[in-house]
Amino acid sequence: MSDAQDTASRIRLALYDIAEHFVGSLPLGVKAVNSGGMPGAASKEAPLPVPARVLDQRIECHRDLHFWAGFIMGTVTDIRGQHIKVYVDALDPIALARFLIVWADQLAKLEPDDANNCADDMSKHAANLKGLAVGDKPEGVVIGRCPVVVDVDPCGATVRAIPGEQVTCPRCGTSGDVGWWQSVILASAAPPLVTAGDLISIVALETRTVLTHEQIRQWATRGKIERAGADVKGRTLYDHQRVVDFVTSGKWPEEGVA
Ligand SMILES: [Zn+2]
Repeated sequence: MSDAQDTASRIRLALYDIAEHFVGSLPLGVKAVNSGGMPGAASKEAPLPVPARVLDQRIECHRDLHFWAGFIMGTVTDIRGQHIKVYVDALDPIALARFLIVWADQLAKLEPDDANNCADDMSKHAANLKGLAVGDKPEGVVIGRCPVVVDVDPCGATVRAIPGEQVTCPRCGTSGDVGWWQSVILASAAPPLVTAGDLISIVALETRTVLTHEQIRQWATRGKIERAGADVKGRTLYDHQRVVDFVTSGKWPEEGVA
């Protein structure tokens, strides 16, 4: 294969991926986290319906498709060398990708630098969109299912952690450090009422405060925190969310406030 043919096939393959995955790359709206806000969100403002990273990658792809379609349009001539006007819906990225698939050979015959830039751009966007739509090859250690609420249901994608890296959900794009993920996954998995032992691990994950059984017992005896009944084995239960609030704020939250 000549270089131009090779480049044309790189461009075409990338464009097929773009056309296939552009729609799937947009996840359903991310509205809230089951317990607590988005990582690092200090304000009470609702998070963006779609992670900014996802919007940026889609817009950059659309912009480059538009750019290269414009490039081709300026070069189309008939057999006598007369410029021909061709039309494509510039607002429709999939139409632009399909248009460029038809003209991939033409793109590959541009100046080698331009042709390579085009192939690199398209390959990058294809990988980004495919990653958003179907997820990359799994890497890292599974830490649980994503509890971030998407529309009405939890996202549910498998979240994996790679040591030293920010952990990002492959489906909804929510990102946070391992500690934050562990706390939201645990909080969403734990029933509202837990034994003192489970309470200690939840409080430690969420507040980095390590309680002892004795401390919990004393707080309950002095009325600083309330007991929430007992399980079938007679073990005292506690409402972990309210205890976490107490440890964080120093005040026992009123019913319905937590
Ligand atoms: Zn998710």
